[in-house]
Amino acid sequence: MKFLRAPGAPASTLAAMSAGFDQLLDATLSHLQNLKAQGVRYVAVSPALLAALRQPAPVVVRPSESVPQALPLPPEKAVAPESRAEPDPAPILSSPQLEPSSVALEPGLKAQAMTELRERALVCVQCPHLAASRKNVVFGVGDVHAQLMFVGEAPGADEDRQGEPFVGAAGQLLTKIIQAMGLSRDTVYIANILKCRPDTPALATGNRKPTAEEMKTCLPYLHAQIDLIQPRVLVALGATAVEGLLGKTLGITKLRGHWQTYRTIPLMPTYHPAFLLRTMALGDKRKVWEDMMQVMDQLGMPISEKQRGFFLRAMRG
Ligand code: URA
Repeated sequence: MKFLRAPGAPASTLAAMSAGFDQLLDATLSHLQNLKAQGVRYVAVSPALLAALRQPAPVVVRPSESVPQALPLPPEKAVAPESRAEPDPAPILSSPQLEPSSVALEPGLKAQAMTELRERALVCVQCPHLAASRKNVVFGVGDVHAQLMFVGEAPGADEDRQGEPFVGAAGQLLTKIIQAMGLSRDTVYIANILKCRPDTPALATGNRKPTAEEMKTCLPYLHAQIDLIQPRVLVALGATAVEGLLGKTLGITKLRGHWQTYRTIPLMPTYHPAFLLRTMALGDKRKVWEDMMQVMDQLGMPISEKQRGFFLRAMRG
């Protein structure tokens, strides 16, 4: 390991630090090997640490070399170990949990970090029953730089088959809602609380709500997705999404239309599109639309007169 050397820093100090760092490195390697021996195949690091690790290493000199006196280093940089080791002191976890991070990543890093997260999710077997029954892991779709992110419950049969969230009947309705807002699936991000379809062994068809255990196990992936995207607004589609993101079980009828906060991000709870398909009530469609107009307003999007009037004439007539 190499260190920057401050003018006047004795070589013995540098050697001692280098030895300390080597010990730390050895301990880290040994910890990782232990985890591997226990069957752990993946460890999580925070997006902030990933970003820091990708920074180019500072120019270094060997302890035996000297820094020209004409270029003195500022005191705070003197004898500093490589700065990339500093941002996150405890990044390695034995679960897929990622540390919450408010650090915005540079665009290229964001996309790469999301790809890496996706790769981990695609091979996840933490819910063995779901890993055995799924056709695909349904990670998420859309723009990693999106300002608006929709969160649903869990993939259904169509999503499981295609590996993409919200592509079945409810998904087509969500797509229409997004388009009515003047957006597209490509400009927002769509994900679910659960990345695998809840299995239904006793039923030939149909869906079931994810269990508390399944949600707890899978949620770290969603938290990490939100951490990476850092959307300006979140929309929680239905009670399960609200429960997963906020831990609230108050009921979607009471919560919808009222701003909530996920960490620091404004979150709008609204009805799940599958509910709208079931009720077909214009009043409920209008409620969801009013929620979406609040979202547009929060994002500073213009709302046309035509948009303001959606469903109203049909409801009156
Ligand atoms: N319902 C959801 O909650 N998510 C999907 O991806 C599809 C249907």
